[in-house]
Amino acid sequence: MKALVLQRPGPRPQLALKDLPVPQVSGDQILVRVEACGLCYHDVLVMRGVLRRGVKDNVVLGHEISGIVEAVGPEVDDFRAGDPVASIQTDACGRCNRCAYGLEHRCVDGHGIGHGTDGGFAEYVSLRATSLVKLPPELDLTSACLLGCPMGVVQRAIRKVGKVLPGEKVLVTGAGGGLGAHSVQLAKASGAVVYAVTRSYSKVEDLESLGADQVLCVGELDFPEVLLALTEDSGVDVALDTVGSPLFNSTLRCLAQYGRLVLLGEVQGEDVSMALAEIIFRDASILGSSGAGRDDLRSAVELVQQKRVHPVVAQLMPLERWQEAYDTMANGNHMGRFVLTPNWNYP
Ligand SMILES: [Zn+2]
Ligand SMILES: [Zn+2]
Repeated sequence: MKALVLQRPGPRPQLALKDLPVPQVSGDQILVRVEACGLCYHDVLVMRGVLRRGVKDNVVLGHEISGIVEAVGPEVDDFRAGDPVASIQTDACGRCNRCAYGLEHRCVDGHGIGHGTDGGFAEYVSLRATSLVKLPPELDLTSACLLGCPMGVVQRAIRKVGKVLPGEKVLVTGAGGGLGAHSVQLAKASGAVVYAVTRSYSKVEDLESLGADQVLCVGELDFPEVLLALTEDSGVDVALDTVGSPLFNSTLRCLAQYGRLVLLGEVQGEDVSMALAEIIFRDASILGSSGAGRDDLRSAVELVQQKRVHPVVAQLMPLERWQEAYDTMANGNHMGRFVLTPNWNYP
């Protein structure tokens, strides 16, 4: 099978399309024929060598996977060949306490898909049953790869970490990116009033059509000042921060009393210094959130079925054009995710 292998991470990562054997499945493993696989910022950080811990040598990247079950191991009884599926980001055991509590993404015996174990930038991938959710047949598989990461990830941050209530005000930073575009939609679907922060004037209309009540452009004005003016000085109840250190202090200043700042992404890996009084006198909470369990993915599926949200695909590309996807992603002018399609034969 065709697979994209990371040969050498670094500032100019070396990847190669290789012909690898199709994985054999045993036990509780499932062989998935990959329909689509999203290119996540996590993949980019592994390619660049920024994330190194636990990365398998010559790994096949990609954890945002949708596809069709091709074959199942003898211990699998809830999936069969032909089922449409989507993955969470972790190849999970299904037997530990965390798996039992719906925290499959934090499985004690888990491996990051496309990180510690081979992922979806290949024609086939082998995953344990606990990493997969069966999809309703009417869902479009080319965009269903985004149901776990980023959609389930955001849904978890909204429902279980930030605990957003209907009518609350929610700020989304990096709103044009993969996590951000889905944060805008899912926050709106939760009943929140949504303030979207972006660098790009060109994304304003798109963000409004995704559900942003107000779009704030970074750079033009100090966005916390604008946000406070728009909220009669009260600020937002929850900030879904997909940018991290570059905007951290500005994002913190947007928080209302009892505000919750949920950190979902960190684009630069810089240290941050802050005035702790900003947290104390707001009675604020600063929370980290990463990953999604199967319950979070299923929650995203329900909202897509109800047509309240949709996966935002920047562009579909064959696996062979990964370099173009990587380069285009780096310049940041797109909305949503680049998605690679290993099994498509393009004319
Ligand atoms: Zn991802
Ligand atoms: Zn487990």
